[in-house]
Amino acid sequence: MLKVNGNGLLIVVSGPSGAGKDTICKTLVETTDNAWISISMTSRNPRNGEVEGKDYYFVTKEEFEEKIKEGKFLEYAIYNNNYYGTPKDKIEDYLNSGIDVILVIDIQGALNIKKLIPSALFIFIMPPDMKTLKQRLIGRKTETKEKIIERFTTAYNEINNVKKYNYVVVNDEIDNAVSKVKAIIKAEKCRVDRIEEINLETKEEIIHEILIDKEFDNNEMEI
Ligand code: 5GP
Repeated sequence: MLKVNGNGLLIVVSGPSGAGKDTICKTLVETTDNAWISISMTSRNPRNGEVEGKDYYFVTKEEFEEKIKEGKFLEYAIYNNNYYGTPKDKIEDYLNSGIDVILVIDIQGALNIKKLIPSALFIFIMPPDMKTLKQRLIGRKTETKEKIIERFTTAYNEINNVKKYNYVVVNDEIDNAVSKVKAIIKAEKCRVDRIEEINLETKEEIIHEILIDKEFDNNEMEI
């Protein structure tokens, strides 16, 4: 009856470091069967426990700059003195085969995507408060005090951009935050601008069915 655009959604998720956006997106993908998280490339050093090709593709600054020249990125940005970029390949294939693609990227990257693909869905993940954010950054135990202060300061500035997104999700509790993101995606897929064709049976056809329906012949009006 309705022909709806069956392409996957391009979902851009940002939020300050420590807000929990990676955990939310990973949980989302593990509990849905048609979503994929794009793996970014970065020139920053791997943290303890990070795996090449799973968390990021780790490259040198020079290698990253080479890829920029070759036009390999959908977008890229410099964040705390390191390059981060979304590789172009695969994204279109996934979207065309109906799989939602999630980009977990910073605000500069999100704004670039907004210019390129305004129909993408933009979700901002907020920490419940700044003290919790500080605790989460410290709790990672992977960075020096200076790095934590740098990240905390960046986070503070990033929150001012929340209104450039379509939705905001406060990550007070992980399951709760994941179900909110799922609800947003579900709602997004019901938007009328995804309708490609409305193909209803004709009015005459249905009226004819009512007229010839024997059941109605024996109905007596109750007054
Ligand atoms: P982290 O160093 O904590 O892994 O990431 C720092 C910031 O870079 C985070 O906000 C993260 O979302 C963002 N980021 C990761 N990958 C990309 C990317 O491909 N493009 C952009 N613009 N930002 C990214």
